[in-house]
Amino acid sequence: MKTTLSIAGMHCASCANTITKALKKTKGVTDANVNFAMKKATIEHDDAATEEQLIKAVTDTGYQAMPDAMTGMKHDMPRGTSHQGMQMPAGHEGMSPSEHLHHQESEKLTRRLVVSAIFAIPALIIAMLFMDDGLLFTGIELPYAPWILLLLATPVQFYAAFDFYKGTWIALKNKSANMDSLIVVGTLAAYFYSVYALFTGGQQYFEIAAILITFVLLGKVLEARATSKTNAAIRTLMELAPKQATVLRGKREVKISVDEVQQGDLLLVRPGEKIPVDGVITSGESSIDESMVTGESLPVDKKKGDTVIGATINKNGTLTIKATKVGTDTTLAHIIRLIQDAQGRKAPIERFADTISSFFVPAVIVIAVLTFITWMLLGSAFSFALIAAVLVLVIACPCALGLATPTAIMVGTGKGAQIGILIKGGDILETTHKVRHILFDKTGTITKGTPDVTDVVPIADLTEKELLRITASIEHASEHPIAQAIVRKAKGMTLAKISGFKATSGKGVEASIGKKHYHIGNRAQLNTTLGEVEPKMRALEEQGKTVVVLAHGKTVLGLVAVADTVKETSREAIEELKKLGMTVHMITGDNEHTAKAIAGQVGIESVFANVLPEHKAEKVKELQQQGSVAMIGDGINDAPALAQADVGIAMGSGTDVAMETGDIVLMKNDLRDIPRAIALSRATMAKVKQNMFWALFYNTLGIPIAAGVLYPFTGWLLSPLIAGAAMALSSVSVVTNSLLLRYKKI
Ligand code: ADP
Ligand code: MG
Repeated sequence: MKTTLSIAGMHCASCANTITKALKKTKGVTDANVNFAMKKATIEHDDAATEEQLIKAVTDTGYQAMPDAMTGMKHDMPRGTSHQGMQMPAGHEGMSPSEHLHHQESEKLTRRLVVSAIFAIPALIIAMLFMDDGLLFTGIELPYAPWILLLLATPVQFYAAFDFYKGTWIALKNKSANMDSLIVVGTLAAYFYSVYALFTGGQQYFEIAAILITFVLLGKVLEARATSKTNAAIRTLMELAPKQATVLRGKREVKISVDEVQQGDLLLVRPGEKIPVDGVITSGESSIDESMVTGESLPVDKKKGDTVIGATINKNGTLTIKATKVGTDTTLAHIIRLIQDAQGRKAPIERFADTISSFFVPAVIVIAVLTFITWMLLGSAFSFALIAAVLVLVIACPCALGLATPTAIMVGTGKGAQIGILIKGGDILETTHKVRHILFDKTGTITKGTPDVTDVVPIADLTEKELLRITASIEHASEHPIAQAIVRKAKGMTLAKISGFKATSGKGVEASIGKKHYHIGNRAQLNTTLGEVEPKMRALEEQGKTVVVLAHGKTVLGLVAVADTVKETSREAIEELKKLGMTVHMITGDNEHTAKAIAGQVGIESVFANVLPEHKAEKVKELQQQGSVAMIGDGINDAPALAQADVGIAMGSGTDVAMETGDIVLMKNDLRDIPRAIALSRATMAKVKQNMFWALFYNTLGIPIAAGVLYPFTGWLLSPLIAGAAMALSSVSVVTNSLLLRYKKI
């Protein structure tokens, strides 16, 4: 079972570690993952752990948790009642409780920042300009300046910094220390030392503590703002969900909330309206804008019998549709869930950041102590050495490092979703950029998968019509695209009754009509060799057609050839992939001649033909010896290969099994989205690496400045300012860099 919780109160990456540990210790939990950037916990567990127990495990550590709004839409919004029992301030309707929680939290943070700035800035001005030891002393000395500073610093220290105390307390309760603890220990030391100095006549540092707290808060506010933008893609998708539907009850039209639509309801959709849920058109025709779901910008013409997707826009005709999928089963709900799961999955590279973060607190304490000792040994005043150590403690928060991967991945997966490429996890973006071999399934992937009968060739003594009728009668029982083509061709004919039908995957079918038993399929399906029919069959195959044979015992009765057209964009896609440095292969259950002919049309040299479904995965394994493999397929028979490949790419038009198994789903069924997916993964990983560089860069820069390397040149007030600014900037620059990915052309 999987549960997603929305978490509030996390300040830094180390908070996420604390919660993860607590969740993992809870009975029944097999795995837990807390995403600091998304403020979400994804928990794998069995029946032994209920949602309430998981929430309790989080609240026990001191953070807030609630069922996640997006995955558990129904939990948050009981049918018909909106946010029952939740107190929603005016103006925030339409926000889910968990969004509301984060909203409240960010408002609180902003309030604390404002208060902090209102007191800290005057304190800084006084200390710099109106005290005789100030950096830019004006010559005018403010009477009682130290006391005024005490008054200004106190609300900053105890009101604005309140959350840091809370965080420290949580850490203490969990017998650990976190970034909050560093800030608290550091600023309290500066504050109380200054109070002591006030009475004994030493140097005071009130304004340093105050200004540092302000910087830390500023960094957090900017970070929260930017982080909430990284998830814009999902929010856009959620906002797409239609709110109302017009249901037909007999002759009456009734407007109801989309939540209340039941499977089987007949719904009326007027031009310009959104299709409320997934369904089938029962009357009317129209062109439909599906771009929001498939990324395909051209509207699609649809008529009676065609399926429609909820949230797409009906352009010009009035339609009646029968609801087939409602609530959390709709395509849109499914896509949203997919992306969320994806964003909750950690990319391996993120573990690197986590490892660094977990060593950080102890390392920073060691550096702070060393700083203190060094300055004392160099003969500086106790107060000076203390302040340098304090600065190290406060500046060192590696928040930016914790944000480096998740923000880039959120933007990357979100961007993918917008252009119709569903990527199921951060880990997948990471594996995709390493892919070297691309293995395509033929039918339904390179080709359209809706073949048509081109030739009906009787061999023995029977008419074309009779050959088609027997074949169609038997194929009627099969789901295979070839079978469907044959049945379509035989439309209008009276089909015969069959018995003893049996399908052999990758080979063909067999059944009896009356007393006669027939085999239909490829060479492997037959009990006989083809003899003089072979050259005829081969000639058709070399034209790229798939030929099935109808045989009765050892007698070959005839051939039926079907041709499947190559998708218009397949060739271009394969060319682009080659340009990206990929080796491209094709794999198919079809025979070698047909396979080679099709491969030739799209520019693939390496072909594996006659591969039985159960052997496709083995072929993938073989290729993996030579490098990372992406397998692209659409059918149930491709699923094992999709699973075996480093990256499984499924077509959106494919079977549900393929889409469940695939790591990436191409909603537009356009193979050109594969080079795009690769480009997107490369761009995202580049961002992750840049982010990590910047995060580490700012920290390695900030810590020595804080420790006092620049004191001899800048004086004691400027250094904390520079170090504080570097720290606030680090998170912001990382998140901004991730956001830039949104504007990159893929
Ligand atoms: P692919 O890998 O191209 O999707 P399959 O593994 O489904 O192909 O099928 C491989 C071959 O088996 C087909 O090309 C066809 O010759 C034969 N075959 C499979 N099912 C049928 C069927 N229902 N009727 C006739 N031939 C079939
Ligand atoms: Mg296929």
